[in-house]
Amino acid sequence: METKDSGLSNKDSNNTGKPNIAFIGLGNMGAPMAENLLKAGYMLSVYDLSEEATQRLQQAGASVAASPKNAASNAQVVISMLPAGKHVHSVYLGENGADGLLAELPKGTLVIDSSTIAAADARLVAEAASKLGIDFLDAPVSGGTGGAIAGSLTFIVGGSDDAFAKAEPILAVMGKNIFHAGEHGAGQVAKICNNMLLGILMAGTAEAINLGVKNGLDPKVLSDIMLQSSGRNWTLEVYNPYPQVMENVPSSNGYKGGFMSKLMQKDLNLAMQTAKDTDVETPMGAKATELYEAHTVDNGDKDFSSIMARHDSSVLS
Ligand code: NAD
Repeated sequence: METKDSGLSNKDSNNTGKPNIAFIGLGNMGAPMAENLLKAGYMLSVYDLSEEATQRLQQAGASVAASPKNAASNAQVVISMLPAGKHVHSVYLGENGADGLLAELPKGTLVIDSSTIAAADARLVAEAASKLGIDFLDAPVSGGTGGAIAGSLTFIVGGSDDAFAKAEPILAVMGKNIFHAGEHGAGQVAKICNNMLLGILMAGTAEAINLGVKNGLDPKVLSDIMLQSSGRNWTLEVYNPYPQVMENVPSSNGYKGGFMSKLMQKDLNLAMQTAKDTDVETPMGAKATELYEAHTVDNGDKDFSSIMARHDSSVLS
């Protein structure tokens, strides 16, 4: 485990030598990330709109707060893992832009937002934080719920060198690869490039497996062949979309948990918006966006590998 000092320890508020952390957003990703911080000896105060989510963390040893402000009242670091930009905006900036959590934090607090949101939204929050003397980092992740549980996420960080150095030892508890992509927003740009490619790969892998199955092949045999051939990719390695080809993946568990299709659609939309704003052509990304848009109408809460059902609806039963 990483032993570098973050420079944020507050010996007055706890005797661990580690900073107190407020963790906001305890869903499929946030809960296991927060649990890993607890296991590493960090004191955590947590907040989520869902009581079920906070109960899980309470059982793991966190104290549960009644609001983001309460969670952060004795914290030197705030971490958030929220669904989308509007949630990040509402937590940090509040309804009128100035009555959110940022306005309550002392100068020098380090804020790490690991949600996947638009780079423009991340820059907006970073700018508001900077005016208040607060360090903000956009630090979206890759690696899925498996990576969150194993503490092997990839963090893709945007923000100042100084804030990155402070965050690194904390991120190292939850992840294996920690990249400093550049200034504010750079983490989010890199993240949506990655997820646009992931959406294309998942849709393409489902399409290829379906073609084989409809032509008499066993999905496991075909997946093994492609895994050792030039079609090899992350979805075949660790996230096969066809039920029962792989253990412990959402497709073998009714497409529950994992990365919801509506979140993949959100990321694809972010990629399309960025491409439009910067006049960049993304025809494959556009096709994947179209496929996920149609798929999420009825399957938004199911894992994104359920795009398999577009070809064969029996996989959902
Ligand atoms: P999720 O929907 O499972 O969890 C989000 C949590 O945030 C929920 O518990 C919800 O109650 C809580 N929440 C919403 N609004 C809130 C608010 N105002 N205050 C406090 N809590 C609030 O989503 P997830 O899968 O954990 O994803 C979180 C983020 O991580 C998203 O931006 C997603 O795109 C990104 N991401 C997800 C995965 C994945 O595999 N699931 C992988 C990489 C990145």
